[in-house]
Amino acid sequence: MSENSYSAIIVGTGFASTFFLWEYLKHAPASERILVLERGRRLDPAERLQRRIVRDEFVRFEDVIINRTPAKPWLQNITFGGGVCWFGNTPRMHPNDFRTRSLYGVGDDWPLSYDDLEPYYVAVEDAMGIGGSSAGPYPRSKPYSFPPHRFNAFDELLAKKYPGLHIPFPSARSSSAGTGRPVCCGNGICELCPVSAKFQNDLHMAHVYVDPRVTLVLEAEVERVDIQAGKVTGVQYRQGTHEVHAKTDLAVVGAHAVMTPFILLRSGLQDRALGRYLNEQLGRGVQINLNGIDNYDGGQSVTGLGLMFLDGAFRKDRPGCLIESWNVPWLRAERGRWRQRAFVTFVFEDIPSFDNYVAVSPEDPSKPEVRYSKHSGYMTAGLESTSRLVEELIGGLPVESYTILPVDGLGGSAHIQGTTRMGQDPGNSVVDRDLRHHSVRNLIALGSGTFPTCPAANPTLTLSALAVRSARRLFI
Ligand SMILES: Cc1cc2nc3c(=O)[nH]c(=O)nc-3n(C[C@H](O)[C@H](O)[C@H](O)COP(=O)(O)OP(=O)(O)OC[C@H]3O[C@@H](n4cnc5c(N)ncnc54)[C@H](O)[C@@H]3O)c2cc1C
Ligand code: SF4
Repeated sequence: MSENSYSAIIVGTGFASTFFLWEYLKHAPASERILVLERGRRLDPAERLQRRIVRDEFVRFEDVIINRTPAKPWLQNITFGGGVCWFGNTPRMHPNDFRTRSLYGVGDDWPLSYDDLEPYYVAVEDAMGIGGSSAGPYPRSKPYSFPPHRFNAFDELLAKKYPGLHIPFPSARSSSAGTGRPVCCGNGICELCPVSAKFQNDLHMAHVYVDPRVTLVLEAEVERVDIQAGKVTGVQYRQGTHEVHAKTDLAVVGAHAVMTPFILLRSGLQDRALGRYLNEQLGRGVQINLNGIDNYDGGQSVTGLGLMFLDGAFRKDRPGCLIESWNVPWLRAERGRWRQRAFVTFVFEDIPSFDNYVAVSPEDPSKPEVRYSKHSGYMTAGLESTSRLVEELIGGLPVESYTILPVDGLGGSAHIQGTTRMGQDPGNSVVDRDLRHHSVRNLIALGSGTFPTCPAANPTLTLSALAVRSARRLFI
């Protein structure tokens, strides 16, 4: 193998790429040479804290894309470790989320089932030190290795009203010293997490990048994958002013749901679905004033996961929705009643539309152009049902009043999905269930871009489990 030739090249060091590499290294021989190319720099945690850096200004995401729909913001980190500013919320997808077409006649079925993914969920949950309870509609082959965090007072009321359907929020915010990290103290600034209780790739998975088989190059912007006669032969990247070509037998692109399709489009791939079906969930915040109940006494920043409106025959007409019950103390400005408040977010699923997309900008081909015209009528039906759902949720509880907060513009959840979707039909998908490109078989696209639908659950646990599964499948 020549000096600039590798068995595998991995693009990005976010959740998807890191978990792919983690699994890949377990099976790859000692002779393997793996090149990892990361556009961002390594952020020093002390500098991050001191300067309150949530999103790095070294490469600002808003500067490297052209957003054609300013009413919809797009958030992503360009840095070693990828989404280091994530909150750490890690629910699984509901088993029925994988087959909404068969069950409810909407969206698409995933080309794999909950059961196919289940062992990989367990592997990632253990690696991230996720704590949770076995309650809820999520069959598990093994209990969580770490205990759930404590509910707050409002969660206790909901858990009593909805047995088994209001459960402790599973999270990568450490609930026990067994994770090797300090226990979360519930201060609620999780984008920064001053005590490193929250799992981050740059801090807690850095060991995979010092493996002797791995060469990590930072500040290396991948521009394209070289494809000849239906096979990847190499990767082209830029380091400062230098253009570099590296040869490889396998290219794995985990640059997130905006940059991954952009790189593949620049590489000349013309799949009909490539860059299309861009989507995100949408949340509606609800501030609830409680009557005589002091709240915010839970063990972490988001304490309760409400599943009462997540699944059912109603999904034929309107979206499933999960509820995040927050424990960050947004206080009530009334003497003696500071803590008599709860805050919940209703997070709705959507049906992805072909018309929302990422493309190579015709004006500046070095940037992706992102266009998002509107949500589906399905999502609108969900948003319009919010006040009815709130009434149902708080019925019989000691609640004085509530306010449903308006959605700003087209909203945003920082959960960008759908642009390299997986499926069985190359006519409406880009990769197969193993995340391999339908025709260029030594090309893998990772991340939530591969999601064929837009479930209500936060995506990072699922995309990480899919990445582990994809790496494992290469060796079976
Ligand atoms: C404020 C915030 C809070 C969030 N909270 C949660 C949460 O609680 N739960 C949850 O599930 N999700 C959350 N998310 C979403 C989560 O961050 C993403 O789902 C996750 O980071 C996606 O993982 P990924 O590996 O696909 O992409 P990323 O983590 O974004 O990694 C992509 C990597 O590719 C690199 N890259 C990009 N372009 C190139 C290129 N051309 N060449 C080389 N490298 C490149 C990037 O620098 C980055 O390292 C949150 C996001 C934000 C912004
Ligand atoms: S609540 Fe505090 S300690 Fe816990 S993860 Fe968030 S910032 Fe870190």
